[in-house]
Amino acid sequence: MNEYDVIVCGGGPSGATTAFYAAKAGMKVLVIDKSKFPRDKACGGLLTARLFDELPELEPYIKPIIECASNDVNLYSPSMKYKIDFEFPEGTPWNITREVFDNAVLEAAGDVGAEIMTQTRVSDFEFNGGVTVKTSKGDFNSKMVIGATGPNDKLASMVRDKRNIKPWNDNQMGTALMWEPVVGKDFVDKNYSDKRSLLVHFKPGGIDGYGWVFPKQEILNIGFGGYNRAIKSIKVKEIWEDYINLLKKDGYFPKDQATPPVKGAPLPLAGPLKATTMDHTLLVGDSAGMVSPLSGEGIYYGMHAGKIAIDTIQNALETNDFSQKNLDQYHRDWSKAFGKELKDLSFFAYLALKIPERMVYYGSRDDKLCEIFADLFLGVTPGGLGKRKPISRAMYDAIRYPYFGLG
Ligand SMILES: Cc1cc2nc3c(=O)[nH]c(=O)nc-3n(C[C@H](O)[C@H](O)[C@H](O)COP(=O)(O)OP(=O)(O)OC[C@H]3O[C@@H](n4cnc5c(N)ncnc54)[C@H](O)[C@@H]3O)c2cc1C
Repeated sequence: MNEYDVIVCGGGPSGATTAFYAAKAGMKVLVIDKSKFPRDKACGGLLTARLFDELPELEPYIKPIIECASNDVNLYSPSMKYKIDFEFPEGTPWNITREVFDNAVLEAAGDVGAEIMTQTRVSDFEFNGGVTVKTSKGDFNSKMVIGATGPNDKLASMVRDKRNIKPWNDNQMGTALMWEPVVGKDFVDKNYSDKRSLLVHFKPGGIDGYGWVFPKQEILNIGFGGYNRAIKSIKVKEIWEDYINLLKKDGYFPKDQATPPVKGAPLPLAGPLKATTMDHTLLVGDSAGMVSPLSGEGIYYGMHAGKIAIDTIQNALETNDFSQKNLDQYHRDWSKAFGKELKDLSFFAYLALKIPERMVYYGSRDDKLCEIFADLFLGVTPGGLGKRKPISRAMYDAIRYPYFGLG
């Protein structure tokens, strides 16, 4: 006996959005999350403006909890010799705190009728003509199950086994470190202005990856992210100290404040899985690797995928066909929406890692490339890149602006 149409495992932004749209479409939905909400999540807390173009129904829940917008970004080359200072023409990115944001999206799902069960750990699944989800609070039955518990998702590993996809290795997985120290509104106003300028440093201290500061009202979100192969070979505490010292030197962090502690979380950087379905099952968000390999942005892709999933789930419920073949429509739909964009991002992530000095050099000379780069990095243009071709533009600049430096 199926108690639910859909059980969503994981109540982060991807799972909660799936539950929101599923419940809104009249399905009987249960969301299960191991944490007690509100809960925090290691993140830069930067949200791209196109979110509301795709998910306008969530705007009333999210808009009130946006801390502030950021109107420009300063991107520094590794040597700090070149800098891209890009003012967002429209659709500025927003700063949020995850504790508040994630809670608001989950509450939105509850508001439209999804049942929310927190402090409950999902441990296993049994496929028996439907799905039995085994949890720390007992078993629950459903017709469909959604994997949205993040990079170590159990359903995702079942999909991998079934569809012959290898686990991510250290060249594909990343780790991002961050902290949100309170520095006071006066300090943020003075050093990041009311534009709340975003700050990005490529390869700080020569380490493969990038550092960032995303200023909010009175706190700074400071972080550093890179591939595991790089993070594993460094002394994390030293790099963190060095990065804070660099920020202190340039006036971006209070000189008399102690170095904040650091926390980290895994980040899939290999692009989405080549299969995101199996019988009765869909994967959304980090579970499916839907993260920008360039910037680490994952909230938008995961939430967008959650909405895209609804048509396929509805069709499966109506036709009583929960086969992988039928559910593969979801894979095609999200691939069409943002698959190409994530591929472009992979190419730029490669360039930004291999020749960051040169990429910032080109960007600082060519407004068009700069715009594309900021778009790819921060997803600021509603509707994505359209006809703009980042790869041919980068090649064009390579010819137009001869570069004789290193990197
Ligand atoms: C340091 C860092 C900085 C980042 N900065 C940004 C940024 O600025 N902007 C951006 O867009 N993205 C950013 N990202 C990526 C972003 O955080 C993720 O892409 C996003 O959180 C994905 O959402 P999700 O719902 O798929 O997964 P999550 O947000 O990870 O949610 C998964 C949920 O599943 C629950 N869960 C886990 N295991 C179980 C279980 N066994 N049973 C039940 N529940 C379970 C967890 O409690 C959690 O609530 C960053 C990531 C990191 C690590």
